Amino acid sequence: MGTKRTWAEINLAAIQQNLAAMQGLLPAGSRVMAVVKANAYGHGSTTVAGCLQAAGVQHFAVATLQEGIELRTSGITGEILVLGYTAPSLAKQLIQYRLTQTAVDAEHALALAQVGRGLPVQLKVDTGMHRLGTLHTQQQALKGLYNNPGLSVKGIYTHFCVADSLEKQDVDFTHLQTQRFNNLLAGLKNEGIFVGKTHLQSSYGVLNYPDAAGDFARLGITLFGVLSQHGKTLLTPRLTPALALKTRVSSVRTLPAGETVGYARAFCCQTPQTVATLCIGYADGLPRNLTNGYVLLHGQKAPIVGRVCMDQTSVLVTGIPGVKAGDTATIIGTDGNHTIMAQDIAQWAGSITNEVLARLGERVERQYY
Ligand SMILES: *Cc1c(COP(=O)(O)O)cnc(C)c1O
Repeated sequence: MGTKRTWAEINLAAIQQNLAAMQGLLPAGSRVMAVVKANAYGHGSTTVAGCLQAAGVQHFAVATLQEGIELRTSGITGEILVLGYTAPSLAKQLIQYRLTQTAVDAEHALALAQVGRGLPVQLKVDTGMHRLGTLHTQQQALKGLYNNPGLSVKGIYTHFCVADSLEKQDVDFTHLQTQRFNNLLAGLKNEGIFVGKTHLQSSYGVLNYPDAAGDFARLGITLFGVLSQHGKTLLTPRLTPALALKTRVSSVRTLPAGETVGYARAFCCQTPQTVATLCIGYADGLPRNLTNGYVLLHGQKAPIVGRVCMDQTSVLVTGIPGVKAGDTATIIGTDGNHTIMAQDIAQWAGSITNEVLARLGERVERQYY
């Protein structure tokens, strides 16, 4: 019997298979930019990026300067694009670690250009998400950035906001975003600008809009073998979930009818119940607002009851004989005939897998195989 409290078993071969499956959907000339922000969606950024680099990936994206520095110092040699904002006063570190910074709007770009040394950037374009980017109609401002000696513009990209939906109005909006981006590129090229690398798609962009391919597809969630939620996509590559989440039983007790379990006395035993306590809580990434969730113990479903605590969770094991301290409980993964997907946890918590995985806590020991 092991001694780990709570751990994630991460299948690196699965990540490489998922990469190959997604690469198989891209047209010739379009390559994967691996998005390994937020600790590679909880899977461990340096190990995952190293595994992807070994499989031939040469372009990576992160959310922050610090994430970029961590990747670079871990031995990633290819392009590392920082997708989020970096204060212009930190541009020296971007240069020191050979990171490509996103110009999140024209104002940011001009401030970065003040550093005065051809700083490598990619220009973000706002085609309708209205989060980051220079508005797609600002062709002259973007042309000025290409011609600004303070910047070395490596590429230009935009981001879809409803590419995960196959509803008609969402499909129409995604097509509109694509058209706005392509019109801008055509306009810039007409003015003699060499636009550099172009990219629009993230995972759902590839799955639902394969025709929107650019020089890169920025893939996050699908590399980890899951979708953001249950539901249909146009293309359905074979993906293998890379992560299983396990924890250990710490204590088992039998309660008479009428007793309650946990904070707020949120669960009351209508009949006598056997309750097992698990070594996982919301600080480990198990959402506190789960409803209808269960874990797997001895190959059977054990319903989560009461409030998920910071470090512990209670489950009913009344119908499961022989549960004892030290037993392994599966939170995500397979035990016997049952499998819990990250999508299930996300659904029970009213969220998406991206959030569930990205919030896996630091205390969760990552075990690679
Ligand atoms: C996180 C992110 C991605 C990756 O999205 P997935 O849906 O996980 O593939 C791509 N592009 C941008 C700008 C992002 O922020």
